[in-house]
Amino acid sequence: MRDNGPELHQQPGNTLLYYQAKHYWAWFIPVSDELTSVGVVFRTEHFKKAGMSREQMMLHECRHMTPVLSERLPDLTPQEPIHAIPNFSYRVHNYTGKGFVCIGDAHRFIDPIFAYGIYFGIQEGEFAADRIAKLLSGEIRTDGNPFADFERHCDEGNDVVEDVIGVLWDFPLAFQRILTWRDRVSSLDLLSGRIYGEMGATNPARIAVRRLMASKEKAEQDAKTTSSPESAEIAVAAG
Ligand SMILES: Cc1cc2nc3c(=O)[nH]c(=O)nc-3n(C[C@H](O)[C@H](O)[C@H](O)COP(=O)(O)OP(=O)(O)OC[C@H]3O[C@@H](n4cnc5c(N)ncnc54)[C@H](O)[C@@H]3O)c2cc1C
Repeated sequence: MRDNGPELHQQPGNTLLYYQAKHYWAWFIPVSDELTSVGVVFRTEHFKKAGMSREQMMLHECRHMTPVLSERLPDLTPQEPIHAIPNFSYRVHNYTGKGFVCIGDAHRFIDPIFAYGIYFGIQEGEFAADRIAKLLSGEIRTDGNPFADFERHCDEGNDVVEDVIGVLWDFPLAFQRILTWRDRVSSLDLLSGRIYGEMGATNPARIAVRRLMASKEKAEQDAKTTSSPESAEIAVAAG
């Protein structure tokens, strides 16, 4: 935050995130003195329920999602067509093999809220280049997938980020406690991209977010197990 005081005119250039509810938020990124990049993220059901065009929806959200966003946008004139991207979170497995390797968005995109996307693209490109150089020079020889270690390494980093963002949405109070108070310094490492290998695995904030997400995964698994007899009955009845 470049913050010189409480008034809006004293805080130019700040990138701001507005959190309304789970998976419902906005970004505000000043591009110049007169132009700001604004994006609003919400669930598809919210869009369908509103019954608006994407342009109407965007302008409506800028005004009504939260007053603090609206007051920072006195002039809501779009400077380019409004774009919409559905289903931006995805994951591809087995994204490397003999003669091919995917990096960045080509194999996974988690959630844009902490803007890891460019970092992943650059970092994974560096890892891949290093691996390719070693393969070409003969330093590494293998008959299997030459990028298997690369893929594992990239997955580790992506998994850390997925947990950090998962805790933000599913355990917001714990997120605040871990990131702004208890594990503040080690959280900075995670937010700065020190998420790979031993460094990521032994980071106290990383361990804390994994524990929370594991508890959520277990609860979901337990719920599935207890509800399966009912599903079986329905399947029989339907048959
Ligand atoms: C609205 C929005 C805001 C974002 N804000 C941020 C942010 O603030 N910070 C951040 O870190 N990340 C942000 N991201 C995410 C970030 O832009 C991406 O994660 C990042 O650009 C991924 O890089 P990449 O190289 O993997 O893919 P891309 O940037 O998509 O690059 C892939 C390139 O390949 C080209 N291409 C595709 N198919 C072919 C083909 N068949 N032949 C040749 N070329 C092809 C495409 O044209 C493109 O130029 C944002 C994303 C969006 C959509």
